Amino acid sequence: MTEEFRVTDDTSLCYTFLMFFKRFLPQLSDLGAISIDGSAPGKTLLITAGVDGDEYSGIDAAHQLIDIFRDRSFSGHIIVIPIVNMPGFMNESSHNPVDGKFPKYLFPGNSRGSSSEQIIASLMPYIDQADCWIDLHSGAITEGLDPFLWLHRTGHRDTDSLIDGLAEKNIADRMLIESCSSSHKASQLARRGKMYIVAESGQRGNRDAHDIALHIQWTKAIMTTLGMIDTPIVSATSPIVMKNVQYVTAPYDGIWQQNPLRPLENGTTIGIAQSFDRTKTKTIVAPVGGYRLWWKETMRMKKGDVLCAIGY
Ligand SMILES: [Zn+2]
Repeated sequence: MTEEFRVTDDTSLCYTFLMFFKRFLPQLSDLGAISIDGSAPGKTLLITAGVDGDEYSGIDAAHQLIDIFRDRSFSGHIIVIPIVNMPGFMNESSHNPVDGKFPKYLFPGNSRGSSSEQIIASLMPYIDQADCWIDLHSGAITEGLDPFLWLHRTGHRDTDSLIDGLAEKNIADRMLIESCSSSHKASQLARRGKMYIVAESGQRGNRDAHDIALHIQWTKAIMTTLGMIDTPIVSATSPIVMKNVQYVTAPYDGIWQQNPLRPLENGTTIGIAQSFDRTKTKTIVAPVGGYRLWWKETMRMKKGDVLCAIGY
């Protein structure tokens, strides 16, 4: 590794000391963070992917962003963690099979907690350094997804004005700008002056070049807004802005049959849910009109699964 392109876990005396005593400490995950210094001072951007372990286009995009910016052609500092949830990635699942949990829901984690809590606790030092955290997601192996950028308004002036700036520049064709409660992690981060953004592009375990390119385009637009690069922003010509998300969930364990995709209006059939013995059948309809964000495509239905997330 060159001096400007180094794995964060370097081999200092301190590190050796820590490794010796690590067996006596809570286990912290090695997240494989790549830290790149820009050629001038500026903001610090944290880019994560693979928080859901089976969402691949974000992971590909994270690797490509490392390759793009390893020449230090930016101001500030970039930290990239391509696969946060490595147990999930190795299991080809969104969740972490070690504890059956989704690390994304466990912010700020717990270094003495379960495997997923420890993963998020390991992420916190990188979040602490960052002015902005972009988390790259997509549809899981079992999910279809139409790309969108997920921004969070928190009531904190500094981060909200940055969010408004991104929205005014129409940096994505579809933007979900959600107002968050004070307990949401975006609000917790905004209280510390940090902006949290989720990018959603890609689906069904695919690694399509177009989906990966969107992740990179959006990340560059955010970097331009943060003053880290000068790349002109590609603005959407007719952007769709959504302010709420409605989740439609599975009523019981059983068999899911998704309806062919069509525009969602209030009452549109999303699919049919059946019990295993097929004595129970329920037509699942959209409770609101809006746009499909992501939806379940495979047959297995587990009570509480998100069958469709609707932005409106
Ligand atoms: Zn995800």
